[in-house]
Amino acid sequence: MDLLCATAVDVSRMVASGEISAREVARFFLDRIQTIDPKIHAFLHVDPDWTLSLADAVDAKRAAGKPLGPLAGVPVALKDILCTKGIPTTCGSKILENFRPPYASTCVEKLLAADAVFVGKANMDEFAMGSSTENSAFGPTANPWDTSRIPGGSSGGSAASIAARMALVAIGSDTGGSIRQPAALCGVVGMKPTYGRVSRYGLVAFASSLDQIGPFAANVRDTARTLSVISGRDERDSTSIDAGVDDYEAALTDVKGLRIGVPKEYFAEGLDSEVESRVREALDVLKGLGAEIVEVTLPHTSYAVATYYIVCTAEASSNLARYDGVHYGYRKTGTPDIIELYSKTREAGFGPEVKRRIMLGTFVLSSGFYDAYYTKGLKVRRLIKQDFDDAFKSVDVIAGPTTPTAAFRMGEKVEDPLSMYLCDIFTISTNLAGIPGISVPCGFTSGGLPVGLQFMGKVLDEKTVLKVAAAYEQATNFPTMPENL
Ligand code: GLN
Repeated sequence: MDLLCATAVDVSRMVASGEISAREVARFFLDRIQTIDPKIHAFLHVDPDWTLSLADAVDAKRAAGKPLGPLAGVPVALKDILCTKGIPTTCGSKILENFRPPYASTCVEKLLAADAVFVGKANMDEFAMGSSTENSAFGPTANPWDTSRIPGGSSGGSAASIAARMALVAIGSDTGGSIRQPAALCGVVGMKPTYGRVSRYGLVAFASSLDQIGPFAANVRDTARTLSVISGRDERDSTSIDAGVDDYEAALTDVKGLRIGVPKEYFAEGLDSEVESRVREALDVLKGLGAEIVEVTLPHTSYAVATYYIVCTAEASSNLARYDGVHYGYRKTGTPDIIELYSKTREAGFGPEVKRRIMLGTFVLSSGFYDAYYTKGLKVRRLIKQDFDDAFKSVDVIAGPTTPTAAFRMGEKVEDPLSMYLCDIFTISTNLAGIPGISVPCGFTSGGLPVGLQFMGKVLDEKTVLKVAAAYEQATNFPTMPENL
C-alpha cells in the first residue's frame, strides 16, 4: 500500500500484523519531511535518531509478542508547545530556544503508550498567539495548497504537516481556534475537544481557562481514534474532567433525524461569499443524509472577539510572567541588576505579538480598569455560554463556517492585528463556552483553496460532533492533500 494514501488506522493495522515495520514507516515519513519540508517549514525540530528509536521500540514490542496500541507505528507531529522529555520545546519563541523539558506532557505519554512514533515538533505562532504562524520566531510555515499563503495558526505547522502528508496525525492546541482554523485553511480535519477532556499537564500555558489539546488528521476516523487515546482524567491537571472516555470510533454512525442548528449570526457581514456557498452546499448535503437543519441564534456572537481578547490576554500576562531569564530559557547577560536582567531578557526574548498581549493583559487586570474590562469580560463570557446552552435545548449539534475567508497571503495582515483577530470570529466562542468543535473539509474556492465546515457540540458530546463530521465526510470525500507537492 502506498503510505501517502494510507490512513493512521491502516498503518496501525499493518504494523500490528507485521505487514510493514514501524521503522519502515518512520523512514518513509522522515524522507518525505526531508524532501517536502524545505518548501513548507512545518517543523521546527526533526531528530531522526529520536524517531527511529521510537519506531524500533514498537517493532521490539511486537517481536516480543506483546499486543500493540491503537496508534502502532503511526507518524505523529507534535506542536512545539507540548513538553517532550529531553527534546527541544520552544513554543515558537526565542525565549525558549534552548529549552529541553525535564518531563513529558500527559498527552505525549499517552501517545507513546499507544505506540505512536513522533516525527518532529511542529511550527507555531509564538506561545500560540496568532492565526497565521507568521508570529513564529523561527520563520513562518507555508500553506501546502499555495505556498504564498499562510496555513492558519497558531498550530499551522501541525495542520500543514497533515496536508503535505509529512505525518498522519498531528497534535495541536486550541485556545481560540488554533486547531480548527488551520485545519480549515489546510483542508484537513482538526478537533478541539471539550475543555478538560484532554489533560493540559505539560502543555505550555497561554490562557489556562481556554487552552485545550486536540488532534489533526486527514480523516475523521483517525481523528476519533487519536482523541480516544489522548482523552481522560489526569491527577496532574485539576481541570481535567473525571468522566469515562468514549470509544469515539464506534460512534461514527449515521445522522438520520439529527437536528443541526445553523446560527444566523455566522452568516453575516465579513463572511466571504465563496466560503458561504461551500457551507450552504454542505448543509444541503447534510439534509440529504436525513438530518434536520434548524436556524438558531447565538445573540452575543458580536461580543466574542472583544471578550476573548480580554480574557486570553489577562491570563497570558500572568502565565508568561515566569519567563524571567532566571528559571529557564533565554537570559540576557551583562545586565547590571536583576530588574534589568528581567526586562532586557523579556525585551529580547519575546516577539511583538507576545509583548502586545502582555501589555493588553496587564492593562485589563490593572486596578482601576479591572472591573471595566476583566470582570465585564467574564460576565459576557457567561452570556456567550448561555447562548449555546439555549441553542442546544433544541438542536444536537451546531454547524457553520470555521473561518470567514480561505487562506490569505503571507504578510497580508501582519501590520493589522485587529484584522488578524477577526479571523477568529467563528472559533473563539466554543473556547469561551468550553464546548467541543471540529473542522472538516467542505470543498474549495474557485482559486483552489480549501474551505472548512465547523460542527460544535454539547459539553462532552464529542461523539455526536464526530458522528456528523464522519457522515458528511463520507458523503463528500474531498481531497485532503494537494496533488502538485
Ligand atoms: N488566533 C487566536 C489568538 O491569536 C487563537 C490562538 C489559539 O487558539 N491558540 O489568540
